[in-house]
Formats: sequence, structure tokens, C-alpha cells
Amino acid sequence: MARSIYFFGAGQADGDAQQKDLLGGKGAGLAEMTRLGIPVPPGFTLTTEVCNAYYAAGKVLPAGVEDEIEAAIGRLESLLGARFGSPEAPLLVSVRSGARASMPGMMDTILNLGMNDEIAAGLARRTGSERFALDAYRRFILTYSDIVLGVPRDRFEEALGRARRDAAARLGVDATRLNAAELERKVPDSLLDPASLAALVQRQKEIVLGATGSPFPDDPRAQLGGAIRAVFDSWNNHRAQVYRKMHDIPEAWGTACNVQAMVFGNLGDDSGTGVAFTRDPSTGERRFYGEWLPNAQGEDVVAGVRTPHPLSRSGPGGGATSGGGATSGGVATSDDADDASSLEARMPEAYAQLVAVQARLEQHFRDMQDLEFTIQRGELFLLQCRTGKRTGRAAVRIAVEMAREGLISQREAILRVDPGSIDQLLHPSIDEGAPKRLLARGLPASPGAATGQVVFSADEAERRAGQGKAVILVRSETSPEDIHGMKAARGVLTARGGMTSHAAVVARGMGKSCVAGCSAISVSQGQMAVTIYDEHGHATGSITVKAGDLITLDGGTGRVYLGAVPTVPAALSGEFEELIGWADAVRRLRVRSNADTPHDARTARNFGAEGIGLCRTEHMFFDEERIHAVREMILADGEAGRRRALAKLLPFQRGDFVGVFREMAGLPVTIRLLDPPLHEFLPQDEAQLEQLSRSVGVSAKELRRKSQELAEYNPMLGHRGCRLAITSPEIYEMQARAILEAACEVAAAGIEVEPEIMIPLSMTRRELAITRALVEGVAEQVFAEKGRRVDVRFGTMIELPRAAIMAGELAEEAEFFSFGTNDLTQTTLGISRDDAGRFLGAYVEAGIFAKDPFQSLDVPGVGALIELARDRGRAARPGLKLGICGEHGGDPSSIGYFERAGLDYVSCSPFRVPVARLAAAQAALTAESARGPRATD
Ligand code: PEP
Ligand code: MG
Repeated sequence: MARSIYFFGAGQADGDAQQKDLLGGKGAGLAEMTRLGIPVPPGFTLTTEVCNAYYAAGKVLPAGVEDEIEAAIGRLESLLGARFGSPEAPLLVSVRSGARASMPGMMDTILNLGMNDEIAAGLARRTGSERFALDAYRRFILTYSDIVLGVPRDRFEEALGRARRDAAARLGVDATRLNAAELERKVPDSLLDPASLAALVQRQKEIVLGATGSPFPDDPRAQLGGAIRAVFDSWNNHRAQVYRKMHDIPEAWGTACNVQAMVFGNLGDDSGTGVAFTRDPSTGERRFYGEWLPNAQGEDVVAGVRTPHPLSRSGPGGGATSGGGATSGGVATSDDADDASSLEARMPEAYAQLVAVQARLEQHFRDMQDLEFTIQRGELFLLQCRTGKRTGRAAVRIAVEMAREGLISQREAILRVDPGSIDQLLHPSIDEGAPKRLLARGLPASPGAATGQVVFSADEAERRAGQGKAVILVRSETSPEDIHGMKAARGVLTARGGMTSHAAVVARGMGKSCVAGCSAISVSQGQMAVTIYDEHGHATGSITVKAGDLITLDGGTGRVYLGAVPTVPAALSGEFEELIGWADAVRRLRVRSNADTPHDARTARNFGAEGIGLCRTEHMFFDEERIHAVREMILADGEAGRRRALAKLLPFQRGDFVGVFREMAGLPVTIRLLDPPLHEFLPQDEAQLEQLSRSVGVSAKELRRKSQELAEYNPMLGHRGCRLAITSPEIYEMQARAILEAACEVAAAGIEVEPEIMIPLSMTRRELAITRALVEGVAEQVFAEKGRRVDVRFGTMIELPRAAIMAGELAEEAEFFSFGTNDLTQTTLGISRDDAGRFLGAYVEAGIFAKDPFQSLDVPGVGALIELARDRGRAARPGLKLGICGEHGGDPSSIGYFERAGLDYVSCSPFRVPVARLAAAQAALTAESARGPRATD
């Protein structure tokens, strides 16, 4: 390990922005800002390597690190003219985590470290505010006890309540009948007087002694060691683990730990703290955007305990454009009160300085930045700068606008947008025309409409979601402990907190609908009381919403409705069309869609599908009118009976294909002949069986016998796929006829058709030779009857290891292969796709698979078979077309692999088509840069 500590301060830094891996995002940002001459309190970063070495040694700091810390503290002391552990000129520090990828609120932070009774008294003398010093001290004890000593925060609640009541008595407020929330509202932290705070500090220390058996540590150096270890430990706390898993952050990265001189935003009304984004993280609009709280410290803004004020004024001339360019105007809802409390109005000089700093940072980093700042007695300090998290919508707008502004290239813009995040753009929104009952309004924290049953705890959200219920998690505010409930819920509603509160930030990251800071609601004892306001803002009554009641959130407007409100499909923005246009220009892989009906085909085409890669014909069999004929066919004793039943199905199938061909005019349509075992079409319960018996005039007993005869121990490996055609060729004959008649009919109407007939689950050349002869025979008949020919391609799915191995022979019969990676994964791994859910989670947890192989392709295993089939198939038939139609066709990381493997196209569900188009473009760009730099960009 080279060095453990990187120092930053007074315009110089050991590290820089390139060293995120080593210094974490926060450490690298602090170093870079320091280098740029932006005001940053000095400090130092313990590297992620120290964290990893700490774990490797069984949670022991590596030798020598403590000496390096001591030396760095010495540098801080001489820079600031203060001393760590001295009551005369106390140096206090913050100790904060900071991993390579931002993990908001998942790990721990300790502020005001380096205090004991004497130092608190010294701080009071130095700042001239006993109240401030004691407040900082009691906050420090609370956080340190919770994080380092393992004494949970709620153990201190009662002591804090007592301090509030003491203060209330001194203020002449009658607190006897107030609950905790009401008391906090009447006596906020800022009204706790020195006497109450001093008593609170002593009481907190007693609680620590009682809980741990040892006094609260008085020695600042011991405090610092404990805090650093706790920050490293927090890399492995439960919520950080959940977050890492959700965002594919490797455990091996570790976190860095930043120790930084404190600056105080709670030194009076000329101080404050806030969070800012260089562009709007929700919409992507180019305007400086953020929130602040006067006279507040550190996490107050993010914690959502007080609702913060906007940074900028809303009116004409108010606000600033990010990046320092011309004002594009447009600021979200605000009113006069907000304007008066904005930082722009309250501290114009600090605001102007902040505007200049944010513009500089955005230009420097060439991306939207998320900043944390503190103003200490009028003086501005930046505490953090990192690439800002954003919604999918904002990501697209920011990337496109930055490319238009010339800040980044179009290629960079394509690579800037996470394909997974644009899923959010495709989410439905509230049907504005539908009748609805508005309950309340909050902040539009994360877009998308969501309906569900109200739940009041994360555990309950997880439990009900596990039962298949849609739920909305309603909380006063969320904390990182709620993450599993947020993950399980369709949407999140909070009573408190702003656009940068935990709930808002995390929901945006997850692409979940979220309404935050909805002050009309109050949550207590398993109920939500909602105050109803008229259009003039006057309270007119209240409603109680209980657990299990349905509500609908509109995360795009902040509205909350009672009951389920109908939604309308997503509409894509102009910026999105532009970005996807750039993506299409660099993409090599074609993108088709899996679609079984004319309706799905239209959706797919609207999303830009370049053909249908898989039309599963069995889905057309389940319709009320048809299932009867299907069952008749299954139950018929001989071929003649089967043919009679199939003749009834023919017009239905033909009609469907006509519709699909029309929708996909001019584009290829791959239709797969029947795949599932016939048993799947028989009634599953007794009542249905009785009904079938009556309608087909066959006794229930006979039906039961037939059903048992068809039942299989292992239907996935049973009589299915082309095996059906070997025993009952008339099924495929009917389907081929329906396809070809439809193709001729549509072609006769002057519409270009490109049918591709695909055989499922083949593994031998002979199966394909038999089915091909069958299809060709039908084709000749149909062409003769119709007096016209259409081009039709014949191909097969590759879903069995034997098919991949024998691909050379199969390619002699097949003009295209489509890898059915759902079945190919199942058969290669020998893991049933229907039963895997029960244990695959444990496999992923144990690191046996990095991801669920049914979602993200098992490249070393299944990928090897794909490459084998590719090579053998193309050797036998140059130009053999290769596609993917399993679920992996819509998975961005699998698409990256399919690009590298040189396949021709992927096919995915209609809603994933835009995701796949973008992912395919990114894959092409990444593959290109891996091949070497281009002359120009
Ligand atoms: C597959 O197996 O990947 C496939 C697309 O077919 P199905 O999912 O219908 O079995
Ligand atoms: Mg399959």
C-alpha cells in the first residue's frame, strides 16, 4: 500500500478527481475542488485501500496508519491555528464515509468530533455562543453513541423530550398535552436554551454509561479512532449491502473515510447549510437548483426533519442558469414566502458566490454536479461535489442539452444515460381526464404514477408486496433503514423533507414514484390524517386513511389521490427522440421485439422495433373463443378429429397474423410454431373440467383420464416444441397455412411482408428437415391456391445444448438461428426456470452467480454455447442470421455481450425496445473504444 492518507487544504491537494477508486467520490471531489481554489475546509482522506486492509486484517487498522493520521491532524492544526483536543482553540472535525459510487445515506457520518466538557466550554467562549457549543456537543454525543457505541438513537428520545419540556416551561408554552411531534414543532431545536442543553448532555452521558457500562469517551483521539473504524464498518451494514446489491456495486471496492475540519452552519442567522444541483435533478432543466436551511447543521437538510427553503427566487430575474450561460428561465412552483426565505434573498453575496462556484464546477467536470455547502457567518464553504444523481428523464435532457451546448460530444451523451433508468420514462402517468379525488399535494420528488395500498412501515411494505400486493409506503420521513420497504413499494409518500430528502433521492435512484414533504398529512399510530384544503389554502376538514386503503401518487406533480386513478401510457420527450436518434446512428445490433398480437406489434413499432423477433403463437390459443377448439383438438382421438378442430382455429390464427403483418409492414416477423406441451391447455381445476365435459359432450371421467395421460413429470423437458410436430404434424401444418395465407393476403393489399417461420426446441438436423418439408409443402399449396408467392425464411431456435453443439448441421436446414436464452439457460444450467426463484437468490447472495442468470446472461457458460453455435452455424451457412429472443435480449449488460459476440439482433418486450436501442449503441461505442482510439470524435 503506497500511502494511506491524502491531504487537502489551502489550495493544495495530494489527490485529484481521477482518483475516485482510491479516494471515493467525496474524497476525490474535495481534492479537486481544493486544487481549483474553491473554498473547502481542509482535511484528509483515508483511502479505500485502508478500508480493504482493515477488513483483511479482521477489522484492524494497518500498521502505521495511526501515525499518518496524527501527522495529518498536525498539518490541519497548523493550517487552521487550532488544536485538536484543546479547549483554547478547539479543532473539531467531521468523519464521513465516501465510496467510489455514491451511496446516499447508506453509510455513516459523524460531525463535531473532538469534544468533551472542557472543549465544549472552550468552544462556547470562542464562538461567543454557549447555546451553539452545547447544541453541537449534544448532537455529537447522540450520533457518536448511535454509530460508534451502538446505543440506538431512540434511547435518547425521552431525554430530548425532557429537554424540550424544560425549555417549553421556561418559554411559557403549555406542553402537557402535546405529543412528541407537536412538542418538536412548538419547541424546535433552535429554542433549546443552554440550561436545557447542558442537562441533556449530562443525561445522554448517563444513558451511555447505563447502556455500555463505560463512560462516554472524553479523549478526542480515541473518538477519532472509533469514528474511523465505524465508518469502515458501515461499508458492511445491512442497508449498504442492500443498496450495493441493487446498484451492482462490488463489495471489494470498500469505502474511503474523510476527516475534515468542521465549519458551522448553525452559528446564527448569518449561517446556514444546503444542497444544490447544477441542473434540476428531477426534470433536467438547466437551472441552478437546490435547498437550504438557515442556522442549521450538516445533515439537517437531507434528513428532512425541517422542510428547507429554495436557493433561488422564483420570479423574473430570480434564479440562475447552471453552467454560467444565458438564463433559460422557468422555475418550479414557488410563492412569495419561498422567495423571501430563499438564499438569494437572505444572503445575496453568498448566493452569488455559490452561483459562480457551481457554474465553474459544472464546466470543469462537464456533468451535472450535486453540491453540499455551508455558510459560516457569511463565509461560503463547499463540503462536497459529485456527479449528481438524476431521474431517467433528467439524465436524457441533461445529456442532450450538454451535447447541444458543446460541453460534451454526442457519443458522450449516449454513454451518459443509464439504459435501465430510461425505463422510468416509459412509466405510465395519471389520466388527467379520469375522475379523481385529490387528497393532498406534496413535492414532485420522483416521477411516475403509482397506485397501491397504504402501509406505514418498511417491513409491512415488504410483507404485503411479497404477497403480490401493490403498496405505497407512507412515512413521516424515510431513513436508510427503510430501504427494503422502498424497494418493495410501488411508490413512497412522506410528510416531511424536501426534494433532496432521503426519500426523494433514493426513490429517484430507484425510478419509483415519490411525493415528499406532503405537509397536509400526519402519520401516527398506523393511520394517516390528511387535512383537506380548499383552493384558497384554507383547511376545510380532514380525512383518515388507514393501512390497506388505496391511494394513487403522481410523482411528477406531487399530487396524492384517494383510491385508484387510471393511468395513461408514457409519452417520450423530444430530447429522448434526439438521443435515441444519435444512438441509432452508431448502433450495429438491430433491435426487434417479442410481440404476440397486433396491439403489441404496434406498441413495439412505436418504440422503434425493427421487426418482431418472436411471436409466440400459443398466446393466441388462450382466447375464450379459441381455447375450446384447442381443447377439442387435444381431446380428439384420431388425426381426422384433430384436423376438424384445427380447421376451426385456422381463421383465428390467420386473422391474428394479418394484423401483425400489417402493423409490421416492411419489417421481418418471426413466428414461432407451437411450443408448450399440450397439457397446458387443459383445464387446471375440477369446475373447469366439468364445464368442458358438458360443452364437448365427453364424460368428466374420460377427460380426467385424458388429462392424466398427457400429464408429464417434467413437462419442460417433455413432449413440447417441435416434438409435437413429429407426432402431430397437422398442428404445424395448420399454423404454417395460417401464416402463409395471411402473408399472401397482406401482400395482395400491396403491403410488404417478411415472414420467418421458426421451429422451437430442435436439436437434430432431421427434426428440421421434417418440419421444413412440411412448411414448404404447405407453402407450395397456398401459393398455388392464391396465385402468388411470398418470400418466407425458415429457421430455428437454439434452446438446447445439443442444438448449439450440432449448429453446423442445423444451419444446413435453417436460414436463421434465434437463441432462446430462457430455455438455453435452463437446459445448460440444468436449473428449472419455473423453480429457480426459490433458491437462485441464495446463489447470488453466496456469490456463486454475480446476477440471476435468467436475467443477465451467464456469459462463461451459456455464452460459450452461443459462440460455438455462431461459429459452427456460420461456417456451414455464411450469412446465417443470428438473434436473441430470450429475456436477455432486453438486459443492457447482456446486450453488451451480444454486441461483442457479433450477433445480428436482439428481441425484447415492447417497453424495453428503447432501452435495448440505447444499450446496443453504448455497446457499439464501448466495443469501438476497446478496439482503439478514433482519429476524430
Ligand atoms: C426462450 O426459451 O428463450 C424463449 C424465448 O422461448 P420461451 O420463453 O417461450 O420458452
Ligand atoms: Mg423457449
